[in-house]
Amino acid sequence: MSALVFIYMVFIKGQKPWNEGLKGMQIPWNKKDRTGENFGRLAVKELHHTEGGRSYWLCVCVCGKEKIILTANLSRTFSCGCLRNERIAAIKTTHGLTKINTYKIWAGLKTRCYNIKAISYRYYGARGIKVCKRWQKFENFLTDMGERPANRSIDRIDNDGDYEPSNCRWATAKQQANNKRQRSAKEVRVG
Ligand SMILES: [Zn+2]
Repeated sequence: MSALVFIYMVFIKGQKPWNEGLKGMQIPWNKKDRTGENFGRLAVKELHHTEGGRSYWLCVCVCGKEKIILTANLSRTFSCGCLRNERIAAIKTTHGLTKINTYKIWAGLKTRCYNIKAISYRYYGARGIKVCKRWQKFENFLTDMGERPANRSIDRIDNDGDYEPSNCRWATAKQQANNKRQRSAKEVRVG
């Protein structure tokens, strides 16, 4: 070690060029000490190791896990991975809820068509509207229609037709209103 490096370390960086029994590695004289810095959920605990002139830092996440991160990646890493996992879990929950909503719609149309005690039965079941054989199983309904998109409900294109793949679509309230209007116009013409 040259005298210059020694002076630089001791007086400018405030480091001691000898091992004091510090945890982890000593910071090389030409590297900035990142210990104690925070990046999202991560706090830099100590220098883990250096390799090819690059420093790797041992970081501790608020969740308790540790992660070793290269200096260049410090500013773009925000957690040990738990943040990403939480986001994925949130998406999965939303996805699950969408599926439940679709199920409720499917259950609803079966009620309208087959439960004579249902209030809306007279507009459906009593008029001979059926749910096709394939759609007696929810899985098939889900395969054919997909999950219900936000703010859409199931609409039968032909009002006298059954609930079946060729006669159903996920429609917006506006589309449904248009369809109803066309229907009443047709009914007037027929009538
Ligand atoms: Zn974490």
